[in-house]
Amino acid sequence: MRIRLVPEKNLALPLLCKQGEGMQIPPSPEEVDQILLTQLLPDRDIACPLSKCAGRYLRESLRADRPQPPFDRVMMDGYALRASEAGLALKVLGLLRAGEAPRELPEMEAQSWEVCTGGVLPPGADAVVPYEECEREADLLCIRTSAEVRPGQYIHPCGSDLEAGAELLSPGTRLGSRELAVAASFGYGELQVRQLPRIAILSTGDELVDPTSDPLPHQIRRSNDLAIDAALALEQLHAQTREALPDERGAMLSRLEACLPDHDLLLCSGGISKGRLDFLPECLEELGFRSVFRRVQQKPGRPMAFWTRGDKRVFCFPGNPMAVLFGLHRHLLPYLRACMGAKDAFARPEQRRLHGELPPSGLTRYLPVSLQEDGSCQPRPLQNSGDFIRPLHSDGFVCIPPEHSGDQFPYIPWS
Ligand code: AMP
Ligand code: MG
Repeated sequence: MRIRLVPEKNLALPLLCKQGEGMQIPPSPEEVDQILLTQLLPDRDIACPLSKCAGRYLRESLRADRPQPPFDRVMMDGYALRASEAGLALKVLGLLRAGEAPRELPEMEAQSWEVCTGGVLPPGADAVVPYEECEREADLLCIRTSAEVRPGQYIHPCGSDLEAGAELLSPGTRLGSRELAVAASFGYGELQVRQLPRIAILSTGDELVDPTSDPLPHQIRRSNDLAIDAALALEQLHAQTREALPDERGAMLSRLEACLPDHDLLLCSGGISKGRLDFLPECLEELGFRSVFRRVQQKPGRPMAFWTRGDKRVFCFPGNPMAVLFGLHRHLLPYLRACMGAKDAFARPEQRRLHGELPPSGLTRYLPVSLQEDGSCQPRPLQNSGDFIRPLHSDGFVCIPPEHSGDQFPYIPWS
């Protein structure tokens, strides 16, 4: 360990730096957003069948191939007629089904067609009267509505929602049920989206055992990899590999080396703090990775790190399960969204009012909260940094920056 003077940001504070850790003061969470934006995975787009696009981000602009609706569309089951003739006894010419080619309403006086919702309005008609407002005997129809029949009623005019050629969706849009329904309606069978990255989740810690095994009294069940996997699933991503690495330098190095050719992104937990057996940083550096940041001015989760080598990226959380949960929601999910082509992936979260006084702190702090009926937040603090049970009774967390005034803070819901 050496003592360094840090000239950045006009701070002449002594910082204790581990050898090779770099001499800069760690970035704030907001600075990490900016840094991560420059460290996205390479953007490779592919054509994806519509049925596999849910939850992914559109990488092209979609345009309407025809107006919406594409014809004057009947909006109620009933009769199509001329509004000006609604007071007459009308002859019903027959039934026009939805999907049937249009049939004219003849110019001859007092004519009508029986029509179905979704069908084409017969040219010559200018109103639809629902069954409920009609009486019919054989092929004679009387309108018995007390209200006046207005021209245009129950007609969805051609092109009234959208003109042909107009943009439907822009690049970066998340593809949910509404977007996919629109894409299908305008004839898209596949969409341009980002190719899925090949991901490995690597947990370090010799104290960890498989969740399904019976731990010895001094062992604990591994859980961070599942938390990370859940975050991936929320982004329609999937880890090809989930592996536990030993706290042993040689073995860790060879496992990492073996893993790298088949993966684009490694998501690691544990092994990056200052412990004697925290070998991850030096192994990555030995494998030619460049450290982008090693710590972040936040709590919990100060030892959060990012490495890069060519097209490969390594995102590391400390082992503390709460630091992983905060880090996943505050940093990894926005990063993954940005990598998958989302627009505004790092947009500032919504602000909410927090109850209670907060002592000053030099770091951004993450505080679990419960949402109140009025939308404000009640703190649900952790017992200690290892407590990941209490947050089960919270809805999300607020991010409290070091310097703050007022009672409004960015709020991030748990996913
Ligand atoms: P580390 O960052 O490796 O020093 O780990 C910090 C703390 O987190 C230790 O108490 C570990 O036992 C715990 N921890 C590390 N990895 C995991 C994991 N995958 N699941 C649950 N707890 C973990
Ligand atoms: Mg460890």
